[in-house]
Amino acid sequence: MAKKLISIDDSKTGEAALPDAVNTALRSTYATQSELSASFRPAFKRQRRPAETVITNFQAGHGWSANGSGGTWDLNYTADAFVGTQCVRVTTAGTGVDANIQKYGFPAINLAAKEFVLPVKIVSGQTHLSRINVLIANNTFANSHTARVYEGVTANPQIIREGEWFPMRFTLADQQSTGGTPNLTAITDLRITVVDKGTGPVVVQLGKLAYYPHETAYPNGAVTLWFDDCIPAHRTFVAPYLAQYGFAACEAVICEAVDGTGMTLAQLRELQNLYGWEICSHSYTFASHTKGFDAMTAQEIAADVDASKTWFSERGFTTVDHFAYPRGMHNANSDTVLSRYFSTGRTTHTKPVNTMLVAEPMRMSCYLPTNTATLASVTQIIDRAYEHGAWLHLGFHDIVDSNASSSTQMLKSTFTGIIDYLATKGSRVVTVGAGWNAGL
Ligand SMILES: [Zn+2]
Repeated sequence: MAKKLISIDDSKTGEAALPDAVNTALRSTYATQSELSASFRPAFKRQRRPAETVITNFQAGHGWSANGSGGTWDLNYTADAFVGTQCVRVTTAGTGVDANIQKYGFPAINLAAKEFVLPVKIVSGQTHLSRINVLIANNTFANSHTARVYEGVTANPQIIREGEWFPMRFTLADQQSTGGTPNLTAITDLRITVVDKGTGPVVVQLGKLAYYPHETAYPNGAVTLWFDDCIPAHRTFVAPYLAQYGFAACEAVICEAVDGTGMTLAQLRELQNLYGWEICSHSYTFASHTKGFDAMTAQEIAADVDASKTWFSERGFTTVDHFAYPRGMHNANSDTVLSRYFSTGRTTHTKPVNTMLVAEPMRMSCYLPTNTATLASVTQIIDRAYEHGAWLHLGFHDIVDSNASSSTQMLKSTFTGIIDYLATKGSRVVTVGAGWNAGL
């Protein structure tokens, strides 16, 4: 029998709170509004999928060869596969030395203005993984462009989880270095490099390598600006500053902060209704924000998000479809539960910079420059995203006049420099929802 709809949110009725045990019993019989309301579900879950051109599926006779002393490759590994009956697999030596697989001298292919997909599995030793690079070149690697498409970090959960096949998508915006002047329209040489940190071996499998053209709506990619935690400066300073260029941003809301330690409800409404910002979910309570959605049970996540979606809905924020992980913390459980409510989830992992066709919607990357980031370091990333058509997400917290002593603060002078540069560059600034819907 279908569940009946009731409200068991005591905070809205002013009644005494029911004991947890009673609430639990009620929830097993009755549905909350969010379980029944279509408006609480993701607006869109599909993306346009352009036709791929396969460079290699790494099947028998693929012609790639191992190179470098940093590991041992099994070029025809048949115990696992992403496509067909095999993949390639490397076990690094644990010495921090490059382990390469490469192919060169093949008929020229045009890799300008492309996105790439490289399904990978980190089989074991993930904490030892330093980076995965892709090098595209001409003239037997004499002229090359090296993109660092994945970086192993330890501070926050990584976008790729150990033991899963992950459809890693990237552009050349993750530029690490260039040698000479490669002609991107006539690439004849390719190399994929796996490097550990010198602390132990990592085992990585590669499933295929393919490319497809940029999203036509955004040939130079896009930039999405995020502001977390409802800090009043987002309304009093940032929104009017962005508005001079017609830019709108995303506010990641902690509901408990509104009309409390953060901005007022009236200010949050102005971000949406006056300045065209997209309101996104971050957490309902400070406790959830502190705990992290990776440390919460499925029931705890659902309860927090139910409360957020109800709060937004009752206050006129009706299309809250995107989520930002508090402190960037996420895991498989949070993926599963949050994807019932949101189209995308934003992490704090920086590489690869998002493609317009998002690799894994619940694990989008975002670069959050700290108080020590220079203007030049940020504009360089903006340049690369523009040149190679990536979808760069830039995240901020507090913007201050002086004394940016915390890593989550940024001086106004640096911040305005970034925004002015985006305007000068001609970067397309979009909210997350606009970018997400680009290919629909
Ligand atoms: Zn936050």
